Amino acid sequence: MSNKVLAPPKAHAPVLPPALKLPADPATLAHRQLRDGLFWQRLQAYAEVPESDFLDHRWQAKNSITNVPRLLAALQGLVDASFVHDAEEGFRHAPMPVRVSPYLLSLIDWSRPYEDPLRIQFIPLASRRLPDHPKVDLDPLHERQDMPVPGLSHRYPDKVLFLPLDTCPVYCRFCTRSYAVGLDTEEVTKLQFGVDVERWRLAFEYVASRPEVEDILISGGDVSQLRDEQVTYIGEAFLAIPHVRRIRWATKMLAVMPQKLLSDTAWVDALTRIADRGRQLHKEVVVHTHFNHPDEITAITQAATNKLFDRGITVRNQTVLIRGVNDTPAVMGVLVKRLSFVNVHPYYIYVHDMVKGVEDLRTTVESGARLEKQIRGLTAGYNTPATVVDTPGGGKRDVHSWEYYDRETGISVYSSPVVHPGQLFCYFDPIHLLPPSGQARWADPSQHDRMIAQALEEARSRR
Ligand SMILES: *Cc1c(COP(=O)(O)O)cnc(C)c1O
Ligand code: SF4
Repeated sequence: MSNKVLAPPKAHAPVLPPALKLPADPATLAHRQLRDGLFWQRLQAYAEVPESDFLDHRWQAKNSITNVPRLLAALQGLVDASFVHDAEEGFRHAPMPVRVSPYLLSLIDWSRPYEDPLRIQFIPLASRRLPDHPKVDLDPLHERQDMPVPGLSHRYPDKVLFLPLDTCPVYCRFCTRSYAVGLDTEEVTKLQFGVDVERWRLAFEYVASRPEVEDILISGGDVSQLRDEQVTYIGEAFLAIPHVRRIRWATKMLAVMPQKLLSDTAWVDALTRIADRGRQLHKEVVVHTHFNHPDEITAITQAATNKLFDRGITVRNQTVLIRGVNDTPAVMGVLVKRLSFVNVHPYYIYVHDMVKGVEDLRTTVESGARLEKQIRGLTAGYNTPATVVDTPGGGKRDVHSWEYYDRETGISVYSSPVVHPGQLFCYFDPIHLLPPSGQARWADPSQHDRMIAQALEEARSRR
């Protein structure tokens, strides 16, 4: 054989290998089109608001709407009187107080307020209200049972959930912590976990006394409501505990008020210093956030996530599966791809917790399981969220991992060998989505215990 040297690349057009894949349909690239420009000026209330105000978190916070009459006033002219009345009645029965940022309000398509995915999440309507499932609870995760000190939940072996405060930049209808978050409403008197340094110290002492705890999840409420010196204080306290290896700061701010990352330099710098200090100690400090629909990701969001990316801070996302918002493969697919596009890792999709007053938002375990199948493979595995059911008391379980699932009664039964070996935990699909025979059984209270006992029996017999 002659010792041939590879010919240098030729300047003329290369011959492409035969195509194995059809050209991409441009529709599959829709996730890259982020809303941009002065979109808020379409709303009469913000028609005169310049970009310099709209991009300022102080303006957003100051102009956030915190009571029903003001919200309804802002909607005058956008929606008809019957919608306003419907929302007024909806708020009257809601377990969560009102707080909506101008940014959120201006992302809603007010020409179709009944279907808009953001309206559904933040503005309750009496006409959509469904009776609660007999098994719903204000503390669906039973977090209060796992609290060794107030506001610190230690359920899993090596991680704790710390709730330093109970306020948020907005209030979501579906909040799983409606037992504590926000001010009291007509429906609910809250367990309060306000900013209280003495309570925080008890939490730090508890973690220091538990060498198995490596992972701190700081949530709330929302950590974007902490002042920058409070971020520093809490971050340093946890980093100083030798066995703490990982800290996550949970905030919805990226989805509802990304302006905070653009204009609150002191806060972003405080977070960055904790992340940098963590890196020096070889400890991971990341941000967890909560986007539910692709419309929540705009060019403003991208500027905000770029800021964290520039500073080397990883962001992960947790989504709640909400009926009419993101329960189709088309919408969830765009959400997953768009999050990845702005450098946010889709981490979890939660089947909606059993929360009071939001039965219209829940969907079935079946639809969560189906969605998981349809999403996996769409993009990188590390950007593919795990779909989980957070079973009351048993913690997060892979949606597909039921021991038994009765689609007629909507009862799914999970085990949780690490958290509570030997025990079984139930999740209940919304009754209105069950077949008529299942709905009939729930209509008869004398059947409830029997249905549950049967499902548990089936689960045991299969193990
Ligand atoms: C969800 C949760 C965590 C964190 O769980 P990951 O699966 O690691 O995200 C920790 N503690 C409690 C009580 C939780 O509910
Ligand atoms: S931001 Fe989070 S904690 Fe606050 S109301 Fe929404 S879901 Fe609840």
